[in-house]
Amino acid sequence: MIQHTQSNTIDFDAAKLQRLGYARRTQPAAKPVSLAQLRQQLGLQLQTSLEADRILALFFQEVQRLVPLDALSYQQPATDLRMELGERASHSAGYRLTHEGEYLGELIFRRNLRFSEEELGQLESLLASLLFPLRNALLYRSALQSALRDPLTETGNRIAMSQALQREIDLASRSLQPLSVLMLDIDHFKSINDRFGHGTGDQVLKAVAASLKDSLRNVDMVFRYGGEEFLVLLSNTGREAAQMVGERLRLAILGLQYLVEGRPLELSISLGCATLLPGESADSLQHRADSALYVSKREGRNRLSMAG
Ligand code: GH3
Ligand code: MG
Ligand code: MG
Repeated sequence: MIQHTQSNTIDFDAAKLQRLGYARRTQPAAKPVSLAQLRQQLGLQLQTSLEADRILALFFQEVQRLVPLDALSYQQPATDLRMELGERASHSAGYRLTHEGEYLGELIFRRNLRFSEEELGQLESLLASLLFPLRNALLYRSALQSALRDPLTETGNRIAMSQALQREIDLASRSLQPLSVLMLDIDHFKSINDRFGHGTGDQVLKAVAASLKDSLRNVDMVFRYGGEEFLVLLSNTGREAAQMVGERLRLAILGLQYLVEGRPLELSISLGCATLLPGESADSLQHRADSALYVSKREGRNRLSMAG
C-alpha cells in the first residue's frame, strides 16, 4: 500500500493567524460554523486537564466530529511520552508541533481514506487549540519528572525510591514474585573529595551512576539514596540472581577507568543485598540491606554481603 505522508510544522504563531482569519486555506462554506464551534469547545475542554494523555485522547475523540480519523499517534521524547490511539492506517499527515521555538512533539493523524486539502486545513486549524493545553501538560509532566530525579546523577531521588519500593513490594506480594534490593556505597569517597575537590567528586558520582545504569536492565530502578549511596531495586529477582547482579555491579565499578589528572582513580563499592520476606515492610527490607552493606564495609570494603 502506498503510504501517503505529509510532514508539516505547526507553530503557534502561524496558527494564531489562522484563528484571526488569515488562514492559508479558505475555510469551506459548508462547515465554517462547526469548525469554529469545535475550536471554541476544544479551547475550553482541553484546558480541563494537565495530563497529556488525557488531553490527546479528548482531542482525538472530539476532532472526529468534524474529520473522521482512524488513528492518532504522538511522541515527545524529552518527557518520554509516546501514545498510539486507534488503529494503524495507510494515509497519514504528520505535524511537528512547536510554540515560540519550543518543541512540543510530533503528532500524526492516520486514516485509510486519503485526507482532502480541506480536511488538512481543518485539522491544522484544530491543532491550534491543542498547543497551549499540550504545552502546559508537558511542563507539568517535566516538573513531576524532575521532582522525582536527582539532577546530578540522573537517577531517581528518595521520593521516587519510596514510591517505587512500596509499589514493587505490593506487586511482589500480590504476584508471589521475588523482590531484592541492593544498597551500595562508594568506598573512601571522602578522600576523593579531599584530594581532588568537590567538583571532581561530583563527576565521579556521575560516572559511577552511569556505570550502574549501564550494567542494569531496568535503569529506572536506580535511586540515589544519600550522598554517595545508591539503592537498586531488582523486581522479580530472587536471592541468587540478585547476588549475581550485585557482583556484576561491583566489578563494573572496579573496572571503571576514571582518569583524574591523567591517572586512573581506584574506585570500588561495597554492597548489601536483601530479598523480601513474606509480609515484610519496606523499612525492614531496607534496614536488612543496609546492615549487610555495613558488614561489607567492616570486612574490608569492595565486596558484597547477603542479608541473613
Ligand atoms: P566509606 O568507605 O566508609 O564509605 O568511606 P567514605 O569516605 O565514602 O564515607 P563517608 O560516608 O564518611 O563519606 C562520604 C562522603 O561523601 C562525605 C561527603 O562529603 C561526600 N559526599 C556526599 N554527597 C556528595 C556529593 O553530592 N558530592 C560530592 N562531591 N561529595 C559528596
Ligand atoms: Mg562511602
Ligand atoms: Mg556513605
